[in-house]
Amino acid sequence: MKTPAGRECPHFYGDYYRGRNVEECRLLEAQGQSWSRDLCSSCPVPDIARANSCAHMKLKVKVGRPIAAIFQRRVQVSAFCEKSKRDVSEPEVGCGECHALPFKFEVKE
Ligand code: SF4
Repeated sequence: MKTPAGRECPHFYGDYYRGRNVEECRLLEAQGQSWSRDLCSSCPVPDIARANSCAHMKLKVKVGRPIAAIFQRRVQVSAFCEKSKRDVSEPEVGCGECHALPFKFEVKE
């Protein structure tokens, strides 16, 4: 579903049927974080979801400010692979367990 920022996000839920105006971020809500519409505009989750749909990768989200009190609140994301049991440093790429990372080219002379 499209977020208030206009990007597709699998965790956004909006119900506007017959005058309703219910909006939720089910990812933040499931992890005990409070959501507001402005968070969607800078959230990295839609780009991660578009680049990597691995079902084993779980996103952990936290709402914080990059440098306290100066910047706006932002969604900060970390990822963990439940199959390889390790942190995923680049969630857009994945851990490389299921989908091998690109092979190396060797140029023989
Ligand atoms: S805050 Fe991020 S994860 Fe939540 S609905 Fe908005 S874009 Fe999606």
